[in-house]
Amino acid sequence: MSSAPERETRLPVYGLRIGVWYATLFVIGSLAIMFLTYLLTSASLAQRDRQIIDSKLGTYAAAYNSGGLRGLETVVNAEQQTAPERVFVRVTDWLGGEAIVLSQPGGWDVATLETGSIRLADGTVIQVGRSTEAREDILARFRAALGLVSLSIFLIALTGGALATQSALRPIRQLIGAVQRIITTGRTDERVPLGETHDAIDELTTLFNAMLDRIEGLVTGMRNALDNVSHDLRTPMTHLRGSAELALAGAPDIDRYREALADCVEEADRVLVMLTTLMDISEAESGAIELHRETMPLAEIVERAVDLYRDTAEAKSVALEAHVDPGIVVSIDRLRLEQVAANLLDNAIKYTPAGGRVDISVAREGGRALLRVRDTGIGIQTAELPRIWERLFRGDESRTERGLGLGLSLVKAVVEAHGGTVSVDSEPGRGSTFTVTLNV
Ligand code: ADP
Repeated sequence: MSSAPERETRLPVYGLRIGVWYATLFVIGSLAIMFLTYLLTSASLAQRDRQIIDSKLGTYAAAYNSGGLRGLETVVNAEQQTAPERVFVRVTDWLGGEAIVLSQPGGWDVATLETGSIRLADGTVIQVGRSTEAREDILARFRAALGLVSLSIFLIALTGGALATQSALRPIRQLIGAVQRIITTGRTDERVPLGETHDAIDELTTLFNAMLDRIEGLVTGMRNALDNVSHDLRTPMTHLRGSAELALAGAPDIDRYREALADCVEEADRVLVMLTTLMDISEAESGAIELHRETMPLAEIVERAVDLYRDTAEAKSVALEAHVDPGIVVSIDRLRLEQVAANLLDNAIKYTPAGGRVDISVAREGGRALLRVRDTGIGIQTAELPRIWERLFRGDESRTERGLGLGLSLVKAVVEAHGGTVSVDSEPGRGSTFTVTLNV
């Protein structure tokens, strides 16, 4: 009872989890791109600084070479006046004497300078430094922007992911809704509407609807079977009760009692056979039947069934003949297969008028064994053909004969439990042929 609401609350959590995953992957991808951009920007800024320093070194070297230290000092001073960008300039003579600082803009920390130097022909070394502050400033802004952009990307990805997941989960939610309605109402005619995307969810929905069709068919079949069983049990039970009541009604009479009790036993037997057969069919259909297989010639089954029905056929003036190949060996449950052969023979004789004939044969065909029962009887109406395998179904023309409408259901269930098949070929007024196919 508690599982349905639980499922209802779990789905949004699941959706949120997918959304967070989606957002995280998206953010990781975006961050990787931004980090790469940051590295490239930082590298290109450093390269630009180097180029400026190299060009300054070239200019200063030329100034020194043409005008000596004075010439260099003039150039540096002139630059200090005009250029907005101030650089650190230091000259050291070749003997390694004291350095002469030509320019050291105030407040610059020598440790934060990007420097470059050039050694001239006379051994003098000119050193130029450029502050990295401007570069650091740009990169710091870049980082701050990155932080902001990452946050926005995360929020956008989270919202987008949540919305996308919500819409992707909608069909699943519909499916859950339908399942919950079916559980609550017990109605199996409910179906989940199909989407138009033809994706995996649509496929699942189609399969789910197909499963519901199947369940509905089974439930309807079971309901009908139950209705039929109740109906068919009512008749013998009413007879049974009627006989007992009638016996009790009059004055005590031992003969009447005996007769009534015999009637009761007969009706009770009928009910018992019906219930046992119904249980056998259910067991075989559900796969719960335990088959005691043994390898044996199929002919033995036929011979036993013919022995059982020889007298019945003779009494009805129906010719009964067997055509068997003793070499056909199958792995079967002897008793169950005897039931199959007996049921088919019983029907064939029952539905064949006097003067007709019934043939039972065993043959091999394409690596399989065939057990065939052919009669020249009343045949089966085309409309009834698909229904003869149903439990408790009895043909219109068969009602005058004894029977429960369970014989063929049992035949089909037992044969299929053996991994075989059974089919019928019939022409009204001319006869029927039932064929059981088994693996050899
Ligand atoms: P039952 O024979 O007790 O009625 P079955 O399950 O054996 O039940 O058969 C179902 C129906 O199939 C029968 O009522 C009958 O209409 C039809 N049927 C089965 N076998 C034959 C046959 N050999 N010839 C004609 N009709 C048959």
